[in-house]
Amino acid sequence: MKRRKCKHCGRSFVVTSRHPDQTHCSQKGCQRARKNDWQRRKLASDEDYRINQANCQATWAAQHPGYWKQYREKNPEYTQRNREKQRERNRIARGQPPASPMISSVAKRDPNHQEKPFIAGYYKLIPVAHTPVANMAPLLVRIHAATHSDHVLQN
Ligand SMILES: [Zn+2]
Repeated sequence: MKRRKCKHCGRSFVVTSRHPDQTHCSQKGCQRARKNDWQRRKLASDEDYRINQANCQATWAAQHPGYWKQYREKNPEYTQRNREKQRERNRIARGQPPASPMISSVAKRDPNHQEKPFIAGYYKLIPVAHTPVANMAPLLVRIHAATHSDHVLQN
């Protein structure tokens, strides 16, 4: 019988012929860790998957409107952290030097946009006017800095 060490808890488990490549034992926590590892790798390597996940999350949030409000009330440190990050983004939008090195590295990624930096990433697009579709879920859009070559390709 072949045995292997679980990648999560380190205990050895029996490798079955049905799952010859199994890396984690069958304990709940270890299987959850395996799933999280898989998703982290997938998010890092697969853009379609990343967009799809973000869309699903935006749709879910739109269908559960009270959830994040409650979450913020129950987790004040989370709210505080986000508030600080937002303050940083506002500072950058006003053209002021950022205080946090994390944010500044994001803003400096595109050297062509030094004067008017913005944060590339995913944004929710929420219709402000009355639309025929009630309770329309916010659209998720990805905004990135266009370079000169992008324009050439599109025109
Ligand atoms: Zn394990």
